Amino acid sequence: MGFRKDERVYIFICIKELNPMIHKYLFILVLSLISICNSCAFENREELVFDDSLDTWGETTEIEPEFYAAEDVSPEAIALTKQYYKIAAENWGNYGPLEFWLVGKNEDAASKLDKEYCALRTQKSPGIPAEHCINRGHNFVTYAKEGNAGLNLRRNNYEEWSGFLITMASKNPSPTEDDYKPVLLHEYFHVYQQAHIYTRDESEREELAKKNPWWLEGGAEYMGQLLYSKQEGVKGGYFKEVMEWKLQSIKDLRKGQRIEDIPYGPDARLAYDLGTWFIAFLIHKSSEEAYRVDFFQDLNDLGFEESFKKNFGSSSEAMLDEFHEVFLSMSNQEKLAILPQ
Ligand SMILES: [Zn+2]
Repeated sequence: MGFRKDERVYIFICIKELNPMIHKYLFILVLSLISICNSCAFENREELVFDDSLDTWGETTEIEPEFYAAEDVSPEAIALTKQYYKIAAENWGNYGPLEFWLVGKNEDAASKLDKEYCALRTQKSPGIPAEHCINRGHNFVTYAKEGNAGLNLRRNNYEEWSGFLITMASKNPSPTEDDYKPVLLHEYFHVYQQAHIYTRDESEREELAKKNPWWLEGGAEYMGQLLYSKQEGVKGGYFKEVMEWKLQSIKDLRKGQRIEDIPYGPDARLAYDLGTWFIAFLIHKSSEEAYRVDFFQDLNDLGFEESFKKNFGSSSEAMLDEFHEVFLSMSNQEKLAILPQ
């Protein structure tokens, strides 16, 4: 058939680390999966023709997301997911179409949810053969076994339906852990980022989003943790603690290694942590508005580099130079001083 079995989901790795500053025990930092290569499994198919006048990609919508859950997911977990989705959408805008898929720990229930998922995919994109979905590599059974969270983006030339799918599993983190909340906000910020890129062309999307994790992950992690830190019940100083912990990755950066050159893989954690710091640095040099609103507003028309220059006042290369050469060698105290109070 010429289809690849695997959806080539790029794994952003579940990172388990000891974090004595925040938790006494094993703490799971950031878990995220994103399907970047969202159309590569279909590349031998003929491209569809789209009527772009009907295309509302990137516009905020009144339409609520759809929520689907495996049988063993508790009503409390579903309610918490809805509550945090609402917080994200109220702060950053409601983008869609969006589906939430909540997976529990029971593999049979996850398998049943997989069937429901594939039936819906076929219904929304009739041109996609059902076996492609059923045989996909990272399915809900994997989520039941391994946990984590992820965004799967569907926006390509081969599927009728464009949209976002956020999967939240029931461990790493569990909905009963506080970490579930910033992880959910992190995933939703990926929706926000991807909603601001209109093209269906894979390589054009990659150019606008940047292929390596420093940019998208740094932004999602910064915005997700910052928004979480402002929620009721979150202890004062939370954001600073999380950011301070991320500074530990500096020592693992090899001499001359730069965050923008780190791909998904063994070193991705460095790109996550220091990418988050790069966004903090960028916002310190400009403003949160310049990053979160203006850059993304101009991204589609101007492209990454021109939007960067317009909104941050220098080329991305010059900013990355300063980040590596000046900012990273400052004391931790000086670094932490740039964070919003
Ligand atoms: Zn992510």
